[in-house]
Amino acid sequence: MLQLCETFTSLQGESTFAGLPCFFIRLTGCNLRCGYCDTSYAFAQGTPVSIEEILKLTQEALCPWQGRSYGSFPLPIIELTGGEPMIYPETPELLKRLCDTQHPVLLETNGSLPLDQVDPRVHRIIDVKLPSSGVLSHNNPQILQQLRPNDQIKFVLGSYEDYNWLKNFLHLHSGLFQGTTLLLSWYSMSPEMAFSLDHHPISRAKLAELILQDALPVRLQIQLHKILWPNEDRLR
Ligand code: SF4
Repeated sequence: MLQLCETFTSLQGESTFAGLPCFFIRLTGCNLRCGYCDTSYAFAQGTPVSIEEILKLTQEALCPWQGRSYGSFPLPIIELTGGEPMIYPETPELLKRLCDTQHPVLLETNGSLPLDQVDPRVHRIIDVKLPSSGVLSHNNPQILQQLRPNDQIKFVLGSYEDYNWLKNFLHLHSGLFQGTTLLLSWYSMSPEMAFSLDHHPISRAKLAELILQDALPVRLQIQLHKILWPNEDRLR
């Protein structure tokens, strides 16, 4: 049985699919505890559901969009997120069944658990954790050795220490990422967090300047949903 936190249709806020209508399926539970987590409500709440029940909810959400497409694919896109969806043994089967709808399927994963059972049609958005996450040791190097053409790697960054780590990491592993989209998400590090980590918060503008100065091959993404609905506790 899976544990479902919530489903909703919104605009995709991140990745190369940003701005497109997206049906989100958020599963409950995560094996990590990142210091900047904005979905901690997904750690424990939720309802037990079967794969069939999730597919039924998906079909209901797709219904009003019948016949709508964007370029070559039908809308909305579908994203499986969490928490961490890969904590469930049923997740690969759920992803396969979602792909069978012919809609693009995205998987948001923290990159700590094996992904080899994920259907090759899935667009895997894989985190590589930076120092301020507090969970650096959970990065799974094996995943980076087996990247697929439709994978996107995501880094969440809030400090100069994160930036320097990232720069060094990309320098050391440049060969792994040829042809892979590298996404960079900035967050506003609180003074309390900076003090406890002994980090120096970086502004978004300074980050952009450093990317240009160091010629980093990354895509700085603005989290669209946080601009559209800045005062919402829960993302949507
Ligand atoms: S992996 Fe994602 S959901 Fe889990 S604690 Fe980190 S930010 Fe939160």
